[in-house]
Amino acid sequence: MAQTEIAPAKEKTEYRASATKINALVHTKLNVKFDYAKKHLIGKEWVTLKPYAYATDSLTLDAKGMDIRNVSLVNGTSLQSLKYDYDQQQLKIKLGKKFLPGQSYTVFIDYTAKPDELKVKGSAAITDAKGLYFINADGKDKDKPVQIWTQGETEASSVWFPTIDRPNQKTTSEISITVPAKYVTLSNGKLTTQVKGTDGTRTDTWKMDLPHAPYLFMMAVGDFKIYKDKWKDKEVSYYLEPAYAPYAKHSFGTTPEMMTFFSGKLGIDYPWNKYSQIVVRDFVSGAMENTTATLHGEYVQRTDREVLDEYFGQAESTIAHELFHHWFGDYVTAESWSNLTVNESFANFSEVMWAEYKYGKDAGDAHNFEDMANYLGTKDDALKNLVRFHYT
Ligand SMILES: [Zn+2]
Repeated sequence: MAQTEIAPAKEKTEYRASATKINALVHTKLNVKFDYAKKHLIGKEWVTLKPYAYATDSLTLDAKGMDIRNVSLVNGTSLQSLKYDYDQQQLKIKLGKKFLPGQSYTVFIDYTAKPDELKVKGSAAITDAKGLYFINADGKDKDKPVQIWTQGETEASSVWFPTIDRPNQKTTSEISITVPAKYVTLSNGKLTTQVKGTDGTRTDTWKMDLPHAPYLFMMAVGDFKIYKDKWKDKEVSYYLEPAYAPYAKHSFGTTPEMMTFFSGKLGIDYPWNKYSQIVVRDFVSGAMENTTATLHGEYVQRTDREVLDEYFGQAESTIAHELFHHWFGDYVTAESWSNLTVNESFANFSEVMWAEYKYGKDAGDAHNFEDMANYLGTKDDALKNLVRFHYT
């Protein structure tokens, strides 16, 4: 993620180890649609897992603030109803029998996600870590498009689908999104099918064939124009509001060259099956490196004249940063949030490498100097260990 502000955090004494793996995620298949009036997501999930090291007869999934209608074990073509406890944070499921390490099983869950009604321990509805955001859902604000987008990092994906919401889990994914036919969707991986419904809707299915962590799952829905670019034989695309579509190449056009540069530097070609970037309204951070579908805040959406006025500014360095996360963060993932700084340090360093390669050593040095000044300027943070196992 690229953050706009860093709030000084107090140290805490609790030791933050990697989460213990009882079950390992294997595949996550989701069918979702939306109730714009209620700001709800109506979902069906088929999640495939396997016991990690020991046999187990139970499964705990993170599922925040949902209505759960049905939890079943998939048994061939039939569903076998399962017992579960749900406390609005975790779904504790009895599998009805013991599964052995490596023996995969699939659980079906019928649910509704209610991000705007999410409460933290009995307090009022929260405004961040909602996971799923409805923007101008009732369309009453004439100056703002109607959009839906998600933000998973750190553990907010489990607001919109039940999962083991930890960075030491990885799963392939298949996400089918049903929307009013006038809207465009974006999610992780390749768009494999688009099926028109009889009720003015369309269902888009997105498939991700390499496993990735739950915090990197994403969806976006809205009125976007898609500009298609290319890197080798892979799709590179930019999703922008129609008014900014003519300037897609001005804002994002260096992306394929960055992919070549970083692939060469790292000795591993960009590993994912496409690379899209989208700009949304009211984003809660700077940008987010969702696997193959980076989401940017509005700052990056500019006209050709505005781009001209800026010399290697925040937009281009963030484009480099989020792309580089597709190696450090998405492909190689920190096993706990204690190691998040490893992701972020490499991504920040990539900005310097790109500046030096594209604009010369002085540009790289200047960018490095700015970052260092920022770091040393927040004295409390500069005094902490870079990797820390105690945090609030
Ligand atoms: Zn980052």
